[in-house]
Amino acid sequence: MDHNKTICPKCGSRETSKGVQYNQGNVYPVKKTVFMGFGSEVLHIFCSKCGFIKESFVKNPEKFKDKDD
Ligand SMILES: [Zn+2]
Repeated sequence: MDHNKTICPKCGSRETSKGVQYNQGNVYPVKKTVFMGFGSEVLHIFCSKCGFIKESFVKNPEKFKDKDD
């Protein structure tokens, strides 16, 4: 399951967590987002120990594509 085994550059831990950030700025566990069917969540992969964010990406980038039709 742990496909992201990058070592934290700050504390050296291999433990990572995944969270979702909404426009309020708070980060929530991914499993609690099923009721949120809209918006532009940002996923974060961060160190479980010190909180250093290793990776961030938009969950649904297709929502941001320009539609000409
Ligand atoms: Zn760390």
